This record gives sequence, structure tokens and C-alpha cells, in this order.
Amino acid sequence: MHAASRLPEEVRLTLEAIVGSHGLIEDPGRLLAYEADALTTRKGTPLAVVLPDSREALIALVRALHAADLPFVPRGAGTGLSGGSVAHDSVVVATTRLRRILEVDPENRTALVEPGVITAEISAAAAPHGLRYLPDPASATACTIGGNVAMNSGGPHCLKHGVTSDHVLGLEIVLPDGETAWLGRGEDGGLDLAGLFIGSEGTVGIISSALVGLAPVAGTTRAMLGLFDGVGDAGAAVSDVFERGLVPVALELIDRATIEVVEASIFAAGLPTDTEAALVIECEGQAEDVEAELAIAAEACRANGAREVRVAQSEAERLAIWRARKKAYGALGRAAPDVFVQDAVVPRTELVRLLPEIRRIADSYGLRLANFFHAGDGNLHPNLLFDRRDADEVSRVEKAGEEIMRLCVDAGGTITGEHGVGSDKVRHMPLLFGSGELALMGALHHAFDPAGLANPDKLLPVDRVGGSAR
Ligand SMILES: Cc1cc2nc3c(=O)[nH]c(=O)nc-3n(C[C@H](O)[C@H](O)[C@H](O)COP(=O)(O)OP(=O)(O)OC[C@H]3O[C@@H](n4cnc5c(N)ncnc54)[C@H](O)[C@@H]3O)c2cc1C
Repeated sequence: MHAASRLPEEVRLTLEAIVGSHGLIEDPGRLLAYEADALTTRKGTPLAVVLPDSREALIALVRALHAADLPFVPRGAGTGLSGGSVAHDSVVVATTRLRRILEVDPENRTALVEPGVITAEISAAAAPHGLRYLPDPASATACTIGGNVAMNSGGPHCLKHGVTSDHVLGLEIVLPDGETAWLGRGEDGGLDLAGLFIGSEGTVGIISSALVGLAPVAGTTRAMLGLFDGVGDAGAAVSDVFERGLVPVALELIDRATIEVVEASIFAAGLPTDTEAALVIECEGQAEDVEAELAIAAEACRANGAREVRVAQSEAERLAIWRARKKAYGALGRAAPDVFVQDAVVPRTELVRLLPEIRRIADSYGLRLANFFHAGDGNLHPNLLFDRRDADEVSRVEKAGEEIMRLCVDAGGTITGEHGVGSDKVRHMPLLFGSGELALMGALHHAFDPAGLANPDKLLPVDRVGGSAR
């Protein structure tokens, strides 16, 4: 009998026989590392964490948990921002030891990878062939492809390149009863069952490998900054860029609160700290096309009151801008111990009206707000700064978050653009979906997971969908 174990002894012995003692975590101190993802307001203590290091071990684990009627929570790197991999009275199946790139096929421009492969490593493996994996969540140097597929992740360059779903060609999945299946995209005439798994947030099984598409490395890539004295002007410039017929490869907005924090950190890129908003606009393709596109983007910025337009003069300067943008979330750690990020998508044309409204909501709850987001596709990320040890502040963050969510939905938006529903936004699902739609989702879920073992209480509101949710 293991002193700290919360597992039935027989189950514990079975799991240990599959993964060895080094692959089974039950020590309460070590379990702390798995109590939350990057959203620190949602927490839970798993019964145990298992770390399979082969496909066979993964399958055997799921079979054992099914036989014991124990729920499980798939987990990649835990960078999720909606509490999707948080476990209560469930076993966490972590994929971080399943990180082999099984094949890079330059001729067919594909890569077959295990679920725990870090997203950025796919492009690194493809680079010697002049290829890359296009989706680029800002967390790409930490998150896993399994997590990306489960969340249908986006990223700054998904504006033009498309999100994860557009680059997954097939998936091997382990169903909640331990059966495996290879799912394609319906190209052979069947249903697009892989499509059903993409974005299912671990609620219908575990992705055990993914076949993803690769694309050639871009010829020329250049970035520019549009600097504005008002966030509204920057929002108007975003719409104007598209009205001029331009779709840049990335169009991000960073506000003053974020710039101040980033510029005080090791990710400083020389962004002026007295600017209210900076647009990062990137174009790629043939050199002459890129020049022409940058000129259009610059004109859209100037026409909407940009006080300055700066084009990065070297690759080092371009990469510095992206480091500042992609590491902004980490830099916020200088300003507060915790960050709550919303993820609504709104029609681009609503940015001008909503950005001041969101600021007003944050102010009304006495909260600090920092914005940096995928402005080109209207994917807002208002970051509310707080300290989780301050219960009153936590409750104000929850209320402000909810108000921002309702504001965005009322403006014709969605409750999530890329961070998923997880445990955080499950209560908001009825804001968007009627009972008929929720029942259909519940019925589909039941077909894959009749015992309700896979990532319970995430994505689907149990009281509304019926079906098998525990
Ligand atoms: C600084 C920062 C920047 C970010 N930037 C972006 C961004 O630009 N775009 C974006 O979309 N997201 C972004 N995110 C959110 C996050 O990185 C993504 O959601 C990512 O896909 C999560 O991957 P992960 O491996 O960390 O998964 P986890 O957080 O471990 O899990 C996420 C969900 O996927 C499920 N899951 C994990 N692995 C599997 C599997 N093998 N099979 C089935 N289900 C599985 C889990 O159960 C959970 O529901 C960011 C997060 C941070 C902290």
C-alpha cells in the first residue's frame, strides 16, 4: 500500500506496471505542478498523474482506467488558458514523454508526430527541407501539438495561414475505452472524423499521433509597427487595412499597459512607452509584393492618425518585435502575480467601440488591464491583472471577465477564439448555443464516450447536454 495514494490499490498496481514507478506521480508535492494550467483561477488535485513513454503504454493506461471506471484528463504542456487540463478526482494522462517526430516527408510535405511534441519543434525538424509548420500559437516553444489539436489553436500568423484544423491531415486517437482508430479528413469519402476531434478539448479521447501538413518557408518576410496615440485609432486602422483589400500574414495590437511592462523586461524591443497602441503588421511572399503590401498597411495606419510608422530594418529587429509580442504574457509577471485572459472574437469593425468599453469595465471593478491580441481576426485578449491571494480581487476579476464576455457576445462575438471552453467558459456555452444544439453535442459526445470518462466537466455544460457527462 502506497502511503499517499488516493487510487484503489489494485488500479495503482496496474498503472505502475504499465509506466513504472518513474511514470506514476502521486506525491502531493509533485501533484501541485498539475493542479492548474496557465489559468490559475481554476484548480484541482488529480488522483494521480501517469506519464506513458510509448503509444502502447498510452493505450494500456486508457484501457486500465476504463476497466476501473476511473475518469481521466489528457494533458500536454499545461499552457492552456481555460482550465481544460485541470483534474478533480481523475487521473491525468500527461503526454510529455511522447515527443518523437516519427517522420518528416518532404516530398508530400507532411510530418507524423507524437502528441507531446512541442509545436515549434515541428518547424525546426522541417527547416532543413525548406519547410515549416504554419500555425504559431504565441506559446509554440512550450505547448504540444496534442494540446493544439485538442484546442484547435490559433496564433498571430493564423490570420492568413489558418488555424490548426487547416493543417491537420489525420489523427490516431485512443477512445475512452482504449480502442484506437485512425481518423482522416473525409478525403476518401467518409466523414471528417478527425475534424470532430479537432477542438474537442480531450472530451472524446486522446490523440496519440497527428499527421500535419507542412508548407515552404516564406521567401521574404517583413514587419512594421504603426504607433498610435489612441487605441480607437489603431482599431480603425485594423478595419481600414482590410478595406484596402490587404490580408497581412499577421496583424496584432499591443496597448500601452503591455508596452510599458514589456519594455521594462528582458523582451524589450524599443517600442515607445508613450504610445497608446502599436499595431504589428507582417507581410510575406515575393519581395516586391511584400514592399507593396507594407506600403498599403502604412497608408492605412497614417490615414487613421498613426503618429509614426516604422518598418523593421533587419531580421534581428523583426524578431525582436515578435519576441516582445509573443513573450508579453510572461512579461506581465512583472506587473502582477496572476493574469486572467479573455478570448472572445468580435467582428473587426466593433473593435473601435469595444476597446474603450472593455477598459471602462476593468476600471469599474478597480482592475488593471493590459491588451495584446490578434486584432486582424478580431480575437480580443483583455488581460486582467490580479493576485490570487486576494479573494476580493479574484471575485472582481470573475465578474469583470463575465461582463466583458457578455459585451462581446452581444456585439455578435463568440466566447472563445482559440483558448477553448475548458472548465472556465463551460457556463457560458448557453449564451451562444440553444438547447437543441447542446443536446446534439451531448449525443455526439455520448457516442464516443458513453461512460463519461474523458475529461469530465469540460466544454459541455453537463446540466444542459444530457448524455454521458458525469
Ligand atoms: C503565453 C501563452 C501564449 C499563448 N498563445 C496562444 C496563441 O497565440 N494561440 C492559441 O491558440 N493559444 C495560445 N495559448 C494557449 C495554449 O498554449 C494553447 O491552448 C495550447 O494548444 C495548449 O497546449 P498544451 O500542450 O499546453 O495543452 P494543455 O494545456 O495541457 O491542454 C489543453 C487541452 O487539450 C487537451 N489535450 C492535451 N493533449 C491532448 C491529447 N494528446 N489528446 C487529447 N486532448 C489533449 C487537454 O485535456 C486540455 O483540454 C497561449 C498560452 C500561453 C500561456
